[in-house]
Amino acid sequence: MKIGTHIVKVLIVGAGPTGLTLAACLEKFGISPDIVDFKNCPNNQSKALAINPVAQAQLGIIFGKNNVGKNSNIVTKLKVIFNTDKRLTTIDLKHLGWPCNSMLVQSQYDTEKDLIELAKNNSVNVRWGTRVVEVIEHDDAIQVVFEGPDNQTIKQQYDYVIGCEGKQSLVREAIGATMTPLPYSMYLALADFKLDIDLSEDSAYYFVYEDTFFVFVPLGKSIWRIVVKHNGDPKRGEYINLVTDPVMEKFGRNIFCGECLWFSQAPLYVSYANKLQSKRLFIAGDSAHLFSPISGTGMNTGIVDAVNLAWKIAFTIKGNACGNTLIQSYQEERIPAIKENAMATDRLTKLISRQEEHTDQFMPKMSNRAYIRNLFPLSVSGFGFSYPSNPVLFGKTDDPSIGRMDSKLTKLLMSSSEFIPDLSLYISVLHFLDQDLNKTALPCPKQTRLKGVRDVVVQWINNDEVADSSCMQVQQSPNIINIALLKKDWQELRQLGDLQVLRPDGIVVFRGPIEEHGEVVINLSEYLNLQ
Ligand SMILES: Cc1cc2nc3c(=O)[nH]c(=O)nc-3n(C[C@H](O)[C@H](O)[C@H](O)COP(=O)(O)OP(=O)(O)OC[C@H]3O[C@@H](n4cnc5c(N)ncnc54)[C@H](O)[C@@H]3O)c2cc1C
Repeated sequence: MKIGTHIVKVLIVGAGPTGLTLAACLEKFGISPDIVDFKNCPNNQSKALAINPVAQAQLGIIFGKNNVGKNSNIVTKLKVIFNTDKRLTTIDLKHLGWPCNSMLVQSQYDTEKDLIELAKNNSVNVRWGTRVVEVIEHDDAIQVVFEGPDNQTIKQQYDYVIGCEGKQSLVREAIGATMTPLPYSMYLALADFKLDIDLSEDSAYYFVYEDTFFVFVPLGKSIWRIVVKHNGDPKRGEYINLVTDPVMEKFGRNIFCGECLWFSQAPLYVSYANKLQSKRLFIAGDSAHLFSPISGTGMNTGIVDAVNLAWKIAFTIKGNACGNTLIQSYQEERIPAIKENAMATDRLTKLISRQEEHTDQFMPKMSNRAYIRNLFPLSVSGFGFSYPSNPVLFGKTDDPSIGRMDSKLTKLLMSSSEFIPDLSLYISVLHFLDQDLNKTALPCPKQTRLKGVRDVVVQWINNDEVADSSCMQVQQSPNIINIALLKKDWQELRQLGDLQVLRPDGIVVFRGPIEEHGEVVINLSEYLNLQ
């Protein structure tokens, strides 16, 4: 993007799920990044499977519904079974009451394919076969050295560099971050197989035994990911029997059909970086945190990192942020969220490796109902996270709904983004205009209208002829959008109050009466660059 005579250049190192999400989001927000990967072509590994509800929701708000998970099997329940056939408990994700209340399960290469398509739709192309070999941050620019496909060395300068290059991260070294792993004396053997077994393909299964555990995750069409715990360290080589032998022994028969479709081993550990950024260098995804595959959080946490960083970089480059305040909040927000995920992964790992204090929480007894029905699904879905109160952006508030996503607003934004394609580029001030009470929304006064902030007036219509559409746009001008809702949707949404302020990633910034609109604008103008 050109600022005056200077073209602002952004580089993403690594085209895994994190780098691809970041590239697609940046382009959608009006910034064209370079993205490179040393591999010669996209990934062909099965690895991460589940796209969790929060990643679905954030990508849905930005790109519209159904853009990722195109090949997926939909999983709505997690069943915990003891000794092959004793059902301990079932966790049903629909208790979340969220617009996305399932896991979309597909191989990581399918997810990356969806993200590559999204990035391409937004004009980003990955430069495959290009390795970053050196990154040096100077006061005014970042110098990057690449090795191209023909081993040719190229030097280039960038304004922002984001390391999404996984476990071995050069950018992490360049910002001086360290990671301390919390290791477990166990590892996982993982394989994708067609199975001959009577299990429901809308459920993932945790089989817990005195001495081991297995996880079965359905990819659809009778193909399952089987994960088996072993003690010690992974072995070198393809030992598929590390998966098949223990399962056949516990099930008392051979449930595997045909060839193994994919096999891998992964050590179990949790670790995260102590910092995520220096001045203009950032890390995201596996470069910033490593989770054991057991909780299915690795890829999803990377996607949420990417979304958080993308809109902040875009706002900063476009001059919609005051200095570096906004961009600094990437680390302030993401480190606590990453820590929370690390703790949840640690609990889950201890739970299924049968460390008693944790196992007890899952026993189906009355006192555990709230945990099993509500808290655990919240943590698995990713929706449990909230960002710490930021006194400038959020104001001082004890309102627990601030700093989080809201299910009803998320649903509204996901459906709106289909017909208002650039809704996501803005901080949205949503006015809930109640025609019944003849209240008038205060349109953002011209002199306080902010770049990057857009008014959305939401009102209800009662028209049976449009019963199929859940909401529809009635009018759009550059800064004010009118959304008309069917009465049934309106009745749900009006409970949210009069005025909501939402960030491009769907996080609620403010919630209150319309009369406080002026104060919100003043708060935002301190945070963003008032034009
Ligand atoms: C066996 C296994 C099973 C897993 N199962 C799950 C699961 O079920 N659920 C889950 O959520 N997560 C799972 N994970 C973790 C998940 O795969 C990762 O969290 C995810 O891939 C992280 O994405 P990323 O984009 O941050 O990094 P990566 O996927 O590692 O991508 C980094 C990219 O950067 C490129 N690169 C590296 N260095 C350079 C360089 N110097 N120059 C240019 N390019 C570079 C690499 O080629 C790579 O393409 C699993 C991981 C493994 C290994």
